[in-house]
This record gives sequence, structure tokens and C-alpha cells, in this order.
Amino acid sequence: MSLAILIVAAGRGTRAGTERPKQWHPLAGARVIDHTLALFKDLPGLGPICVVHHPDDTDPLPDHVITAIGGATRDASVRAGLAALAPFIPSRVLVHDAARPCTPRSVILDVIAALDTYPAAAPALAVTDALWRADIDHETCLVRGVQDRSGLYRAQTPQGFRFSALVTAHANVLSPAADDVEIARAAGLDVAVVPGHEDNLKITHPADFARAERILRGSMDIRLGNGYDVHRFCDGTQVWLCGISVPHSHGLDGHSDADVGMHAITDAIYGAMAEGDIGRHFPPSDPQWKGAASHIFLRHAAELARNRGFAISNVDCTLVCERPKIGPHASAMQAALAAILDISADRVSVKATTSERLGFTGREEGIAALATATLVKP
Ligand code: MG
Repeated sequence: MSLAILIVAAGRGTRAGTERPKQWHPLAGARVIDHTLALFKDLPGLGPICVVHHPDDTDPLPDHVITAIGGATRDASVRAGLAALAPFIPSRVLVHDAARPCTPRSVILDVIAALDTYPAAAPALAVTDALWRADIDHETCLVRGVQDRSGLYRAQTPQGFRFSALVTAHANVLSPAADDVEIARAAGLDVAVVPGHEDNLKITHPADFARAERILRGSMDIRLGNGYDVHRFCDGTQVWLCGISVPHSHGLDGHSDADVGMHAITDAIYGAMAEGDIGRHFPPSDPQWKGAASHIFLRHAAELARNRGFAISNVDCTLVCERPKIGPHASAMQAALAAILDISADRVSVKATTSERLGFTGREEGIAALATATLVKP
């Protein structure tokens, strides 16, 4: 018995105030749709997953996802998704809003379980606030009456159906419908209500992004790592710092290119994963790393993080030296590190301080670097 997932992502979402439709908008280290897709990972009996998108949206999706082009209405988009899923002959389908990235697992499992007994099931929350009718007249809004809330529910998704029953219901739909429950009921199907959840919000308004992020961070794996490195000055005419060659009266001594900033950042990323330091992955005793460009180390740490499902949320590096002056090179360093890490430059910080002529950095015997990295797994 295979379970198909149909994610409706064709809407334009104008109320969310984002430049792009909200489902493609960044949220907590990924896109909204990435979090939504992750909700259905490893479900028992999971079959095909279809994302129905607008023809203008050509954003990449994971290889295992089937796509379909949406129609002018929600029900037309769902029909396009059902047609794309039909060749897989699934027995059940969950139809879910792309803009609901925080659905608790228990809600999804309850919908699936209810399909053992009913041809359709959907999560909803009983209305607990008092309901008023009000008129907006010029600039005032006045209460005109009270609405009885008993028996009223706020509908959520995923809405679950026996696949063939939903296909048949959609074949007979006559007018635009609010959702698939309305279409199923019009076709005479019983729809069971299972408990919804307050965290199962549909991102609609700009403030919803912050709330969704708070919910997601609550269950996220967030890692912080730090790194520290020192290299001494030697004869030379330039130093490598954070991927940039900076002219100087000395060079930096080291087994590799001695890029002290990049080493500290690399160690911070390894540290966040409890993966030791550069020396563990690139032993100084191994001659193949002699004089190696440090971007090899940094790229390795970033790839290890990605392979473990982490996004690099940010890195911050402080170089400690009297000279050379870092300020004129900081933005080039920021860009170089961002390119190696494959993240946007606004997630990379390079700054510098002197040590007030105190200590080994103050005596210009060498350069020290400190770094912090944050890794996030949705
Ligand atoms: Mg080093």
C-alpha cells in the first residue's frame, strides 16, 4: 500500500510580503519547501512525492520529487498533481500546503491512521476564541454581533484520502473549492477530523516566518564550533590570510600555506561536528599536504558538514595582528571564504584587532586567529 504525497506549491502568496512566492523563501537555513518536504521523510509505505508548482517557478527540487505544473485554482493544481501521481498507482494520498513547513509528525501519522477507517481524514483545531461579526466603517471597526463557535473548526493540512476516491471526487468538481475536504464531501465521502496542532501554521503574513523559524529551531540540531590558530612570521614578502595574498614585510611559516584565518575557520567547522581539527584530517606528517593551499582543508570541512545534513549558517573570524592592516582586504577575504564555503557573503565575517602591542602578536612575531562557525540541520 503506497502513500503518495502531493504538495501544492503553485500559489503566489502575495500577503507574505516576500519578493518570491513564500514557498521558495529562505527559512531557518533552507527554503520553506525544503522543510515541508522533510516532514514526509521516512514515512511508512512512502511512495511518490509530487510538487505542483507555478510555470514561472523553475526552482530546483530534489531528484526524487516528481513535478507538475499547477492550474489557475487550487483544485486544478491538485488535479494536475493527481494526474502525475496516477501512473504509480498509490493507494492513498496526502495533500499538503507547501507553506506549512512545521507540521508535527503526530498530525501526519494521525491522518494516515484514520484512513484505515475512513476514505478521507484531515487535521483541524476546534475554535476556542469567541467569534464576532464586525463591520469596518471608514476608520472604525465595530462589533455587530456574536457568532456561536460550537462545532466550528480551523482546517489544516495534510488532508488524506484514498487515492481513487479523491480522483473520482475531483472528476466531478464543478466550481473552485476551498480545499480537498470540500471536494470530497461534495462527492459524498465521509471526512474524519483528527487533532490539528497550533504549530501547524500556514505561512501567510510576514510575521509568520519568524514564528515558523522559532518552531523549527526548537527541533533543530544547531551546532557551534570554535577554532584558534597561530603562525609565526618568517622571511617573505606576502602572507595568505583568509584566502587572499596580502603584501607584507614577512611571510608566515607553516606546513601548508599558513593561512591562519582559514585554519581557524576550518577547525571551527570540524569542532561543531566534534570532528577534531585539521591535523586529524590532514596529518602534518603526511608530505602530500606540505605547502597545500588551505582552501582544500576548508572545502573538506564544509563538504563533511553538508554530507551530514548541516547547512553552514555563518562563520566569524577575528585576526589578531599589528600588521598587515586587514581592513582594506576584509571584503575580498569575505568574498573568497564565501565562495569556498558556497554560502552567501552576508554569512561570513572577517574582522581584525591588534593586541595593543602586547604579547607575541604585539611584538609582531606572528599572527593569531579565532573563529566561530554555526551549523544547522533542519
Ligand atoms: Mg595552522
